[in-house]
Formats: sequence, C-alpha cells, structure tokens
Amino acid sequence: MTEATKKAAELLKNYDGEKIRIMEVCGTHTHEIFRHGIRNLLSDKIELISGPGCPVCVTPAGFIDEAVELALEHNVTICTFGDLVRVPGSEMSLAGARAKGARIQTVYSPQDAEKYAVEHPDEEVAFLSVGFETTTPSSCIAVKNAEADGISNFSLLTANKTMPGAYSAMADHTDVYLYPGHVHTITGLKDCEDMLAKGMSGVIAGFTPSELLTALAIAVKKFGEGKPFLVNAYPRVVTGKGSPEAMALVDKYMQPCDAEWRGIGVIENSGRELREEYAGFDAAKKFNITRTSGRSNPGCRCGEILKGQCKPHECPLFGKVCTPEHPVGACMVSNEGTCSAYYQFG
Ligand code: SF4
Repeated sequence: MTEATKKAAELLKNYDGEKIRIMEVCGTHTHEIFRHGIRNLLSDKIELISGPGCPVCVTPAGFIDEAVELALEHNVTICTFGDLVRVPGSEMSLAGARAKGARIQTVYSPQDAEKYAVEHPDEEVAFLSVGFETTTPSSCIAVKNAEADGISNFSLLTANKTMPGAYSAMADHTDVYLYPGHVHTITGLKDCEDMLAKGMSGVIAGFTPSELLTALAIAVKKFGEGKPFLVNAYPRVVTGKGSPEAMALVDKYMQPCDAEWRGIGVIENSGRELREEYAGFDAAKKFNITRTSGRSNPGCRCGEILKGQCKPHECPLFGKVCTPEHPVGACMVSNEGTCSAYYQFG
C-alpha cells in the first residue's frame, strides 16, 4: 500500500463528520469493494449504497419472457452472456426454456453471436443485447458485421441502457455518486458535469483497491466542504471527451428510447434501440414480439435493493430460499449483483 493509499484508508476509518451516503452505481465497484474488504475499513458514518449498475440486475423479468417467447414460439436460437440464462422470468428462465428444448447458446460477445449466425445459416439467431454505454458499441459492431457479411438470420433483442437517466432517478437516495469509470471512459465527463449543475456530487472511480480507497476518501473530504463537487479520480483512463468514435458508432445504429429498469420503472430516454433503418436486425420487430414488463417473484426485494432502500440481508429469502445456486431474483444471479456480493463476501 502506498503512503497516499494508507492516508486515504486512515481518513475513511476515522471519519467522524456528518453521515454520508455514497452510492457505488457500478456492479463491478460493488463487487471489488466487497472483495477487497473495503467496507470493513469504513467509519460507521459512511454508508455505501449499491445502486442500479449491474446490467443483469436491472433487466426486467419481461425481457426474459420475450427471449423465452423467441426461443420456444419462434424457434430462434438465443445467444447470450451466461448470467442471463439463470435470471427468472415471469414463468421460467432461459435455463427452463432450454430444458423444454430451446436452443440457448452462451457466448462471450455479440460478435461471437454474429459468427454463430454466419456458421448456422439454417437457424434464426438473436443476441440478447443488455448493458450500458460500455457494452452497447459491441452490439453495434455485431450489426455492422452482419451487414458486411450480408446475413439476414441475425438480430438483437435489445435492452441496452444509459446511465444519466438513472443518475437523475436515484439522486434522492444518495449524497455522492461513485461514478463508474468504464462508462465515462466512453462518455467522458459531460453527464457528470450535468449532474453537478443540478447540485449532485460525484467522484469518477477506477477499480483497483488503491483507486477505490482514493475515490472514497476524496468523496468524504469534499463532502465535508459543504459544496457540490465533481472529481475525476480516474484520469489515467477517463478524459473529458471520452471516446467520440464509440459514441458515433452507437449513434449510427441506435437511437434513444424509454427503458424499463427492474424495480425503478420506466425512465425516459434511458435506453437504446436499433434505428428504423436497421429494423431487420431488431428481433422484437422481426418476430413481432410485444414488449412487456413481466412479473417478478413477489417476495423478491431486488427493486428496493437497486434503489438503495433495503440491504440484501433484510430480504427474508436471502441465503435461505435465494442463493447463487438457486437465485429467486436477478440481484443474486450476476457476480456484479448486490445480493450475490453480500452472499459471497458480506
Ligand atoms: S436475496 Fe434474492 S429474493 Fe431477496 S432481493 Fe436478493 S435476489 Fe431478490
């Protein structure tokens, strides 16, 4: 540990000022903070709230229902990241659909899904495109590749989301945001500056223990000064303008749309969908899928957890009925999910 990191840890341990709520928006931050035992170092005047930054967790049950419908009723091969396979839908998960004969392929990228479509011209193939600004460009590259390959059996079922709407929706639940460094690697500082203009404080954080401790210490120190602030504590990666190339790529293929966030509801303009000129690659349009909200297990408190209104161990199902092996809600499925992090490290 460097001298600076030691000082940051000391400051966080000995903090005795006004109680401060810091929301780590990003699921990777939640996981890394737990994994490195950083929560155990903090003064009890510092409350860390895990926000809605895990893409699997904020994907509503209705999206899983749509994917199940594609697989079972339209005989579409579903290509997806592994986490989504176990997320419960209203009636069943994709694992349940697989048990009924659906073709569910786990892939590591949208490009793998497009490649699968090229190699299986007799199958219709849909990739489940979830995620934030960091992963959306990759889905757009897959559509670009499908165009270049001249294939018509590949599409995306989209539930892509963008963070600024969520920042505004969650502002009452926190004093300071720990902004996700990888999102702002793409989008730059503008969204955080907009939040600052609305009086919301934040620190852009990296992912190593030293970067996280430094960012938290900056949040606590600046909070004590009593004025809204924005600090980029991840300058080795995040720049003011972000990645214009990645943003231009997304703008070419996708347009803003309203999006439903599990537990939070619909946030205006917080999603991305394929533009009309790429409707042939949009699985919902291609197969006439009705977009639905779906139903979560009524005992699951993921919605409150994603808003920072309850901690996982306050859910009566936590660790008893709901475990990573048998998840009842999305927050227990993904490694980045808050319930999963509490279960593994809490
Ligand atoms: S412990 Fe399980 S059931 Fe409870 S809120 Fe978390 S994911 Fe939902």
